[in-house]
Amino acid sequence: MELNGEYDMSLITQARTSDVRFPTSDFLDGSDAMNPDPDYSVAYLTVETDAGETGHGFVFTIGRGNDVVVAAIDSLKHYVVGSEVDALLADMGATSQMFINDSQLRWLGPEKGVEHMAIGAMLTALWDLKAKREKKPLWELLADMTPEQLVDLVDFRYLSDAITRNEALDILRCAEPTRAERKADLLANGYPGYSTAPGWLGYSDEKMVGLCQEAVKDHGFGQIKLKVGGSVEDDWRRLALAREAVGPDVKLAVDANQVWDVPEAIEWINQLQDYDLAWVEEPTSPDDILGHRARGCQIVCVQSHR
Ligand SMILES: [Mg+2]
Repeated sequence: MELNGEYDMSLITQARTSDVRFPTSDFLDGSDAMNPDPDYSVAYLTVETDAGETGHGFVFTIGRGNDVVVAAIDSLKHYVVGSEVDALLADMGATSQMFINDSQLRWLGPEKGVEHMAIGAMLTALWDLKAKREKKPLWELLADMTPEQLVDLVDFRYLSDAITRNEALDILRCAEPTRAERKADLLANGYPGYSTAPGWLGYSDEKMVGLCQEAVKDHGFGQIKLKVGGSVEDDWRRLALAREAVGPDVKLAVDANQVWDVPEAIEWINQLQDYDLAWVEEPTSPDDILGHRARGCQIVCVQSHR
C-alpha cells in the first residue's frame, strides 16, 4: 500500500486469540437432529499492526473443542506476527497458500477439520484488515477485483479436472459487463437472506410458530429454515404449523445436519413432499460423494454452514 507516496512498512505486532462460549444449550438454541445440546462458541482472532489497525476473524464451533481450534490458530501465529502488512495483504492467494502448505501442519488438514478452521480464522482476519485499509466493506473489495485477481485467490490443484484457471477466468470475464448493474441492484435492494432462528429442533411448537411469524412479519424474511430428522411425524406437524404461520408465499427449507444415511434420506424427504420444500440441507455426510450422486437426481441438496 502506498500512503502519501511513501511505502508503508507497517508490521503485524500481535495475533490474539480468545475462546468465547455462550450457554445456548440452556434453551436449546441451535439444537438439531445431530447436535441436540450445542453451546454456540467462537475461536476468535484479532491481528494488530504497529499503526494501531486491527483485523478480526473467527470460526464457529458448538462448544467442546473450541480450545482445540484456538490452539490450532495459535500454531499459525508465527506466520503473521512480525511480518510486513503489505507483503501479507498484497497477494492473498499466496498468503492462503503459505498457511495451507506448512509442510508439517498440513498433516492435520489442511483443507478439512480443525486446521482448515484455523486457517479460515487467519484469512478472515487478514481480509478484514485489507478491507479496512482500502476503506471498503469486504463484499465490495471482492466485488471490485478483476477476474484475474479473483482467480489468483484460488488454488486449482485439486480442481483442475473439474475447472481450470482459464475456464474460471472465462466465466468471470463473461459476467464482467453486467457487474456494475448487479452491484447497483445489490446496493438498492439488498441480498435476500433467510432466517433459521425459528427452526431449532428443541423449540416448542408455540415458540417455533411465534418466531416464524416474527421472522416474516417483523423482519421481512422471504424464507425460513427448520431443522428436521428427529421423527417424521414431528417434521410433518412442525412443517404444517410453519406453513400456516408464514402463509403460502414464504419459502420453507429444511436441514437434517447429516443425520440420515442415503436410502433413509431419500425415503424421509419423499415423505415431506407435500410441504413444497425450497431445498434440503445436509441430508447425509457432506463427504459422501457416491451418496451425493445417488441422491442428486432425486433431491435438491445444499451443504451446510450451520
Ligand atoms: Mg446446516
